[in-house]
Amino acid sequence: MAKLRKKNSSMQDGMQDDKQDSLPKAYVGDELFQDELSSGKEESQCHYDLIIIGAGPSGLFCGINAMLVGKKILILEKKNSPGHKLLISGSGQCNITHDGNIQDLLDHYGDKGQGRFLRPALLGFTNNDLISFFKSKGLEMVREKGGKIFPKTGRARDVLNILMEQCREKEVVIKCNQAVMSITRNEVAGNESDFLVSCKGGSYRSRLLAIATGGRSYPATGSSGEGYRFAEILGHRISEIGPALTPLLIKDYPFSDLAGLSFPDMKISLYRHAKIRVHQGDILFTHEGLSGPGILDSSRYIRAGDILRLSFVPGDKRKALEEWLVNKARQDGGKNILSALADLSHLELPTVPLYPRLIKRILEISGMPSDLQMAQLTRENRSSLVDNLTGFSLVVSDLCGYNTAMVTRGGVERKEIDPKTMQSRLVKGLYLVGEVLDVDGDTGGYNLQAAFSTGMLAARSIRSNWMKSDN
Ligand SMILES: Cc1cc2nc3c(=O)[nH]c(=O)nc-3n(C[C@H](O)[C@H](O)[C@H](O)COP(=O)(O)OP(=O)(O)OC[C@H]3O[C@@H](n4cnc5c(N)ncnc54)[C@H](O)[C@@H]3O)c2cc1C
Repeated sequence: MAKLRKKNSSMQDGMQDDKQDSLPKAYVGDELFQDELSSGKEESQCHYDLIIIGAGPSGLFCGINAMLVGKKILILEKKNSPGHKLLISGSGQCNITHDGNIQDLLDHYGDKGQGRFLRPALLGFTNNDLISFFKSKGLEMVREKGGKIFPKTGRARDVLNILMEQCREKEVVIKCNQAVMSITRNEVAGNESDFLVSCKGGSYRSRLLAIATGGRSYPATGSSGEGYRFAEILGHRISEIGPALTPLLIKDYPFSDLAGLSFPDMKISLYRHAKIRVHQGDILFTHEGLSGPGILDSSRYIRAGDILRLSFVPGDKRKALEEWLVNKARQDGGKNILSALADLSHLELPTVPLYPRLIKRILEISGMPSDLQMAQLTRENRSSLVDNLTGFSLVVSDLCGYNTAMVTRGGVERKEIDPKTMQSRLVKGLYLVGEVLDVDGDTGGYNLQAAFSTGMLAARSIRSNWMKSDN
């Protein structure tokens, strides 16, 4: 142990040196404990009070907040340094959470009971608590237009550095380059568990285990879905996973050359046989399909083959649009349809911006030339144009995959986790935190908030159990 502490403290020195601009060297490499493992000492010497698999925000925060004097906590991380995904979050600026009251926040985790599940975690450690935590460590946060919260420095690295400093201060040991390969659970006296966690470099034992391995998206950051397998081995069910917060690829996409056009607050209707959902949000035309917050946030519900209907003019204004076209033809019959439609945006009919390039394309698709005079507009022309403006149909050929998706939908079944502690209802001593759970939030800071809040909730539960059993 003396050797361990010594190594630990020399690593801390290194960490302070380079805390601004590179990952703390302290945790790069895999030397820590290697001597103990290879020297043939009893396995019991690698016995921890808590092992956490994964040094992302949920795992690090769980470790930091669970620590009690005299306890040994080990975080195993498969990459050569912690927090790879955290570092790229918010394009490296880390949209850490979102402004608003807790109910507002909870409404941003889909509508399949995720918000209900997260309520105790988010009430126990709110967005304001998260902001205060970082403020107390010297990192101020700023609120951007729309409510997204970022570190004032605009650097995800500063968030990670604080988490690393906290691990050092609390003596939470992080061991990198340790991809966990398997977990074995032995039941010991009183229904307690003893977990044997095996990595390429060695094995570790612990009474408590937290799986904080994240989802499957951006696998290059280390989160490649192994946590689901571990949870399954331990008896948990995994609800169907898939990429979420991801752009869409559209079959026979007609707007490739209009890539870059964006439409604020557009109504998007989703059909699978029948209409299954309506969403309102900002969308962006890409070269191969659709993106933008409105699409990303809906993507958790979308599957290949689904039909999307985009409303450039709201569907409930269909009749008003028809009447407007009829009147326009009467009053302004000599005007060509392209310039007539340019007036639409300025009239009482609410529309998204009707860019001339877009109108031209919609006219083409609706089967009429853009120089057609209003007086020549047939009933069929009108009907086809109104259909396309109020509900332009696009078939989803696919969702962009895990390499592009910001999160993974689905995961460890929520029913099997106690939402008040994040402890497994099936396996005593097992905790699951962060994105490995069947929890995914909208864009805007909700996923990191969920990672921190679930990490904190598990930590509090672990600490309070330790305190009870130590008394
Ligand atoms: C490009 C991008 C941008 C994003 N931006 C934002 C944003 O601005 N705001 C927001 O709220 N959310 C954002 N997210 C989502 C957010 O980053 C994640 O939801 C969050 O990091 C999840 O935290 P976590 O701790 O559960 O898992 P992760 O951060 O994924 O961490 C899991 C860790 O476990 C390790 N691990 C996995 N398997 C093993 C194993 N077998 N053995 C050992 N270690 C293992 C991984 O290497 C990884 O370090 C973004 C995601 C991406 C991909």
